[in-house]
Amino acid sequence: MPIIINPNNPNIRYSADVIPNECPICHRAIEPSIIAVVQTEENLLTDAVFLCKGCFNLFIAKYRHVGSGNWSFAHSWPILPQQVKQPKELQRLSPSFCEVYNQAIASESYKLHQLTGIGLRKSLEYLVKDYLIFLNPDESEQIKKIPLSQCLTETHIQNKRLIEVAKRAMWLGNDEVHYDKKWENRDLQDLKNLINITKEWITSEIMAINYINEMDTPKK
Ligand SMILES: [Zn+2]
Repeated sequence: MPIIINPNNPNIRYSADVIPNECPICHRAIEPSIIAVVQTEENLLTDAVFLCKGCFNLFIAKYRHVGSGNWSFAHSWPILPQQVKQPKELQRLSPSFCEVYNQAIASESYKLHQLTGIGLRKSLEYLVKDYLIFLNPDESEQIKKIPLSQCLTETHIQNKRLIEVAKRAMWLGNDEVHYDKKWENRDLQDLKNLINITKEWITSEIMAINYINEMDTPKK
């Protein structure tokens, strides 16, 4: 078991299950330096102050006493949600998708899991509709109004697998929004996986379209 030594009194040592190996601020993998240990709440809780050698910020790791002098890591604080940088094709296609997706991931960092699914469902709608508007700019007003389910048909999208994957993302997303859950053996990770597959497919299709348009015919 790792040992945390109180730098102000090296005779006080804490047997902890985990030393944080990721900084909650810069999210780099780290081996942090211990700066101070403060016992609170009648010795049931201990705050260990660490220095991240990646971003040189201080953060606190909260530990709970679990008996026999052993301490269990609860969480690090403060949490600075990690921003997902989307490919430039997606940033151009759908700034709304990028913004809402990042907000959904941020809510997950704060353990607001009920909101994460709702946010992911909303981000999917922006992603699919902005893609359809890119393909059919003249129909943009109509596309904005129709339900997402009507967008995911062969009338709008040629790639059948893309339709099927995005539909499954929509089904799981709807579960996060509605009262009744239909897909009980699926979770937020499945929803994120399906949105990521959809997103990568759409990015590849846009890159393909751009290359085909830009490289019209070979030089004679
Ligand atoms: Zn850091």
